[in-house]
Amino acid sequence: MDSLALSKLYTEAVEQTKAATRQYAKRQVRWIRSKLLSALIDAEAKDYLMPLDGTDPKLWNVKVEGPATDLTKRFLAGVALPNPTQVSDVAEELLKLKEQDGSSASKHLWMKKTCDVCNVTGTTESQWTQHIKSRAHRKAVSKSNAREYASEKNSTQLEDFTAVVK
Ligand SMILES: [Zn+2]
Repeated sequence: MDSLALSKLYTEAVEQTKAATRQYAKRQVRWIRSKLLSALIDAEAKDYLMPLDGTDPKLWNVKVEGPATDLTKRFLAGVALPNPTQVSDVAEELLKLKEQDGSSASKHLWMKKTCDVCNVTGTTESQWTQHIKSRAHRKAVSKSNAREYASEKNSTQLEDFTAVVK
């Protein structure tokens, strides 16, 4: 292979690597927003997610290493941590829950619903859905259906549950 062809291949490989890295970084950010953030919200630990800005390698020490070291030291010392939305320019945007960001983020918005059949309360949409789909709930609903609750209030609610289960 002549050196011209070789150098062309090299340039192509470098460009493809850069493009793949950019795509991977985007997927990582999406994963942080949809999966990690949701999991942290469920665990009531969302205030521990500190998004730093690593987009400029020249500013790595100032924007990433320094703040990360400082935050870690504070965490280990049990000192109060800053509001995560204030730790970098990108933090607020990244931590914002958006409806159009895929269902998983909006599923974790706070709400409160109580199942009168099981006397169980869900505080997020996903918790609620999990309960409605659970074997225990379905069993309880069919049991109380069999008992034929007379009150109109209960029968309306049971219909609602059945609709959700479908
Ligand atoms: Zn239930």
